[in-house]
Amino acid sequence: MGARTAQEYLQGLRDGREVWIGGESVKDVTSHPALRRGASSLGGWLGRQHEAELRDVLTFPSPESGEHVGMSFLRPETRDDLGKRSAAFLESARWSGGMLGRTPDYLNSSVMALASASEFFTAVNPEFGRNIQAYFRHLRENDVVLTHTLVNPSVNRRLTDQGIPSSQVALQIVRHTDRGIVVRGARLLATLGPLADELLVFPSTSLKDDPSSTRYAFAFAVPCATPGLRFLCRDSYDTGRPVFDAPLSARFEEMDAVVVFDDVEVPWERIFLLEDPSSCNSVHSATNSLIHMMHQVVCKNIAKAEFMVGLLCAMTSANQRDRAPQTQAQIAEAMCVVELMKACLTASEANARPDQWGTMTPDRMPLDAARNVFPQQYQRLVELVQLLGSSSLMATPAQADLTSAIAGDIETYFALENLESPQRIGLFRLAQDVAVSGFGARQALYERFFFGAPERVASMLFQAYDKEPLTRRIFDLLGRPDGFAEGQRDTVSGARDGR
Ligand SMILES: Cc1cc2nc3c(=O)[nH]c(=O)nc-3n(C[C@H](O)[C@H](O)[C@H](O)COP(=O)(O)OP(=O)(O)OC[C@H]3O[C@@H](n4cnc5c(N)ncnc54)[C@H](O)[C@@H]3O)c2cc1C
Repeated sequence: MGARTAQEYLQGLRDGREVWIGGESVKDVTSHPALRRGASSLGGWLGRQHEAELRDVLTFPSPESGEHVGMSFLRPETRDDLGKRSAAFLESARWSGGMLGRTPDYLNSSVMALASASEFFTAVNPEFGRNIQAYFRHLRENDVVLTHTLVNPSVNRRLTDQGIPSSQVALQIVRHTDRGIVVRGARLLATLGPLADELLVFPSTSLKDDPSSTRYAFAFAVPCATPGLRFLCRDSYDTGRPVFDAPLSARFEEMDAVVVFDDVEVPWERIFLLEDPSSCNSVHSATNSLIHMMHQVVCKNIAKAEFMVGLLCAMTSANQRDRAPQTQAQIAEAMCVVELMKACLTASEANARPDQWGTMTPDRMPLDAARNVFPQQYQRLVELVQLLGSSSLMATPAQADLTSAIAGDIETYFALENLESPQRIGLFRLAQDVAVSGFGARQALYERFFFGAPERVASMLFQAYDKEPLTRRIFDLLGRPDGFAEGQRDTVSGARDGR
């Protein structure tokens, strides 16, 4: 099949999956008002793979079928391959201004790396090595859209912080069958869950490494329409407003859902790790899947920061604040974020090395720095939109007002010297959707947490960082002779001693 069209993707979502929102069971996510336009946008995202001028940027011929498949499935063997991957990530992320955070290339990158490191799984069980490779081929050839859940809900934080899941709620194995395993419990938090084709259930990396954890230790994948699987959605930020009124929330509602597993059977061929806490704890870092996910994420960060700079420039050009050095300094802060993210991407590719399986792997540290810095910087970018938008973010009548009895007021009182009223209102409604709306607040929360709690993410960088040479330099300095030039030593010590 290869890269899918929007219609093929939307048709695939009509599969009887169980999705709940606002007390209602959703019959068809592609027609439900809370989810319909988000699904349609993701369809548009996939459909771009077929546009003539983008085909060679977004796809490549599958080594197996020859069909064009998504570039995120390309296993990089050279730096040039990495460049092709990031060019596709950037092209894709710029399309939504980075506001469609969970595009399929994120998890495709993860599974590409997992399958390339299939020996990691084979070492645990040869069947698991074959399973992950077959699963990757299935994703690539059918352009499957994935969501994932990593985190167990917690009833007792004191225990979960020690790697002991809450047995009442955490997802766990309840029995083995001839066909596979049966699991019960819940997982947080599947972004895109109701709009994905399949669900990856991977371990979060903090299980206690002893037999008490084995029933919580697994990695598998199931279709979203698997019997017993339920997606419990939050409120939708797409409230049905016209695109003019809600330029982002009307388009890019990707939805987040808690996933309940009500005795879900997982077939053996979709199991990648089982009852082995140690391999579960190390899977993301040992296979380098984390690095390839960060490589996609830094491109999303670039696109999102660029979008914010463009917005700030458009706003301040409209209200003519951009002549003030103070405003320029504020926007320069945002420009620095763009350039820092780009520098991290460039450095990660320039210093890329093949890993032990021959997969060209970006340098981790610049990407890890980017994923630690961006969550804070994004909050500042939002704050800059608020600071520079001020009351214009509230002076935002709706599209319906433009043709109503008060249309004259709007024409008179909302125009700027260089912008007609409808354009000014449209621009500031966009800014409002970024910085004030529920959609905007969720974006800020997403950036803070989607990769994990900030302390944990920072601690991972700390642990991976090569600290020893830097620490040694400190002790070398303390231990070496002072190094003053010949003849200076006495003078300096004399001055210090007051002689
Ligand atoms: C919008 C959004 C989308 C998401 N999408 C996904 C997804 O698609 N798939 C997925 O698997 N997960 C997803 N997540 C969940 C994400 O993985 C978790 O939010 C993240 O791992 C943090 O876990 P938590 O929410 O349980 O918060 P906690 O770990 O409870 O953190 C809550 C607060 O406590 C702090 N904290 C954490 N540990 C300690 C400690 N030991 N001592 C003191 N303070 C501490 C944290 O910094 C934070 O401020 C998403 C989250 C959000 C908000």
